[in-house]
Parts: sequence; C-alpha cells; structure tokens
Amino acid sequence: MPELPEVEITARGLRQRIIGLQILQIGGVDWPRMLPNSTEAELQTVLPGLTVKVIDRRGKYLLVGFDEDQWLVVHRKMSGNVLLRPGNALPEAHTHIEIEFDDGTLLRFVDPRKFGRVYLFRSFIQLNDFLAAHLGPDSLIDLNEQMLVAKLRGRTGRIKSLLLDQAFVAGIGNLYADEALWEARVHPLRSAASLSKVEMRRLAGAIKSVLMRGIERNGTSFSATYRDVDDQPGENQSFLNAYGRESQPCPRCGRPISRILIGARSAHFCPRCQKLRLSRQ
Ligand SMILES: [Zn+2]
Repeated sequence: MPELPEVEITARGLRQRIIGLQILQIGGVDWPRMLPNSTEAELQTVLPGLTVKVIDRRGKYLLVGFDEDQWLVVHRKMSGNVLLRPGNALPEAHTHIEIEFDDGTLLRFVDPRKFGRVYLFRSFIQLNDFLAAHLGPDSLIDLNEQMLVAKLRGRTGRIKSLLLDQAFVAGIGNLYADEALWEARVHPLRSAASLSKVEMRRLAGAIKSVLMRGIERNGTSFSATYRDVDDQPGENQSFLNAYGRESQPCPRCGRPISRILIGARSAHFCPRCQKLRLSRQ
C-alpha cells in the first residue's frame, strides 16, 4: 500500500513532467465508484483546456492543481498507481482513468484492487475543508518532537493504532509504522499514555527518518504493488528492519522478529528491543 514516501515520489515525478501541460481530454472511467464526488461527464466539462499549475501532497493524498483553482486529488489506497506514458503507449490493464495532455503525454490511474479514489474540487477552499476534515498534521512536514509529545498527552490508545489514524498524524501506514516503532524501540501494543518523554522524542525522530529514507530509496514496493510514474519499483524493501521480516533476525540484537495481529493488521517488532512493559528511562 503506498504510504507517504511513495506518494511523495510520485508527486516529485509528476512535478518534473506535467507542470505547464494542458489537458486535451480525459476519459476511460470504467469504475464510477472511484469518483466519489464527481462523474466522468463533470470531469470532461471542467478539465479540458486547463493547465497543470501545482503538484503537491498531503498525507497520502496526491494533489494536482490547475488554473482557475480546479483540483484533482488522488488517494491510491491499496494498489493504485499514477503512471505517465507516451502518447503511443498501449493500453494497460486496470486503467480506470486516462488524461491526455497537449504534448501527447498520457497520465493513467491504474488500480487492480479498485480501492483508489479520485476527487474533483472546484476551489482550494473546498479542497482544504476536505483535507482538514480527514487529516492531522503531515508526518513528514509538520510533525516534530514537541508536536508529537503534545498530541500524545492524554491519549490512552495503543501507540501503533494512533500512528495509523490519519486524523491523528497523516501519511503513515502499516509498513512505516512498524519501521518507526522498531527504530524507536517502542512495542506496538504500548499504550500512548505509557510512553516516556524520551520515548516520544525518539519516536518523533524515528518517524521522520524512516520516511526520509523511504523517499531516498524511491519508496517501498511489495508484491509488485507500488510503482513510480515510470512504472519502476522502489528499493526500500531491501532495507527494512522489521516489516515483513517475521522470524528473521533483528538487525540490532539478532533475536527473531515477531509478528502479531492488531485488529486485522499485522505488526512486526523485536520482542527484545521493543518491550511491552513500561521501561524506566
Ligand atoms: Zn532486537
């Protein structure tokens, strides 16, 4: 599932390639549910003739801003990818929307699992209201030690569940949550209220560093899901410390990594480095 680093890589790829391009046409919507707040006909009325002005990211949402203050927002969910193709490219399976630009470039939203969504917002105010209703501070741009300490104050939930809550902090998913907790040496089932200030600070630093490293390595690709705009996989999957490494040695202490279920989702951690009982430090 693409998380913040993968969306950031896509945003950077698009920024280099489609800013200044004008939409010629848009179509190919074969899955109307991917447009939660518009229709293909509305996209075809609003977007042709508009020029791409801004590419941005908030949490796991990719923002594409056009002139006349029109916005497309992509949330890729489990398996969605945003690909750029030359004009003569063959169709690819699972394309649910295609935008043709004036230089012939094709932007395709490709999503085998069909959980991804594309939103249309008719002004930045409308877009901002939507994001404010769904997202807490961005875990790469906004989050720092003081903010995390303040946000965790008085919270009693499990720390991993809080990290996955996009309204608490935006951008982290299962993979980077496991990596950050491993790096901070915090057990995923710890209650937020049990974390010492030192642990909170360590966690804030770990969140930022695992996200930065994910970006530097062009994202993490598991099960052939995440691809960049040129359909290339990332490299970060070869450098993970905890996620997906059940029974393999912890890179810090050598003890096998454990996997447990929290709700329906797996959590990977080192039972020696990440103790469940409150540590005094
Ligand atoms: Zn360990």
